Amino acid sequence: MGRGGALDASLLVYFTNRTNGVSHPPYSSNNLAFHVGDNPLHVKQNRILTCKDLKIDPSRLISMDQIHSANIKIVSSSSTNPIPECDGILTNEPNLALLVQTADCTPVLIYSPDKRAIGALHVGRAGAFKKIVPKALEMMQNEFNVLVPSLHVWIGPAIQKCCYEIDKEVLEYAKRNFSSFLEGKRLDIAKIIIHQLTQYGVQNIHYDKTCTSCDKSYFSYRREKTTGRQGGIIMLKEDL
Ligand SMILES: [Zn+2]
Repeated sequence: MGRGGALDASLLVYFTNRTNGVSHPPYSSNNLAFHVGDNPLHVKQNRILTCKDLKIDPSRLISMDQIHSANIKIVSSSSTNPIPECDGILTNEPNLALLVQTADCTPVLIYSPDKRAIGALHVGRAGAFKKIVPKALEMMQNEFNVLVPSLHVWIGPAIQKCCYEIDKEVLEYAKRNFSSFLEGKRLDIAKIIIHQLTQYGVQNIHYDKTCTSCDKSYFSYRREKTTGRQGGIIMLKEDL
């Protein structure tokens, strides 16, 4: 159903794919998103099964109403869930799982080993251009006093430059502002994210180069338009 990349037993980092769920086509099968037109009972069941596999309490899975913004919220178990109108959530609360939902956009998960704080970001082209990643690093520094260069960051499966040709209007903007990340008409979002992280001194970057548009075990908006969403999930694990 996906793969994990956690550093140690006190952290969960996981990226799901589209396998091992109960949803029917075109959402088959492990669609984690309620907003895409799938049967909500199937989505609920998929979330419960995923949580069971990952040993997460389903009532402590926090998701976002993602809007391609650079809005980031600090969340806790008392927050309204899903978190309205944002594309990034941060917490230092143990056993609270942060979920980012994607189908081509880049899921980014952040972990501070020293301050025990985490973040989950939805970084599409809009988020990369609006610098949601640098904003998250600054918020983690301000809110949790983390040492930014000590952070670990996972860049999950997403559409890669092989498949990400952009249209004329976006291309003109990218040529003016992000020209070094273009190859012809194709934009390299991961390269932008890695550049932004490196500017802040982050060295521990775990980059999954899987292209969601090439690899059919993932949901891809560009390939299928009407489709489900996979999840990037991060949680601080503590025995209660
Ligand atoms: Zn591709």
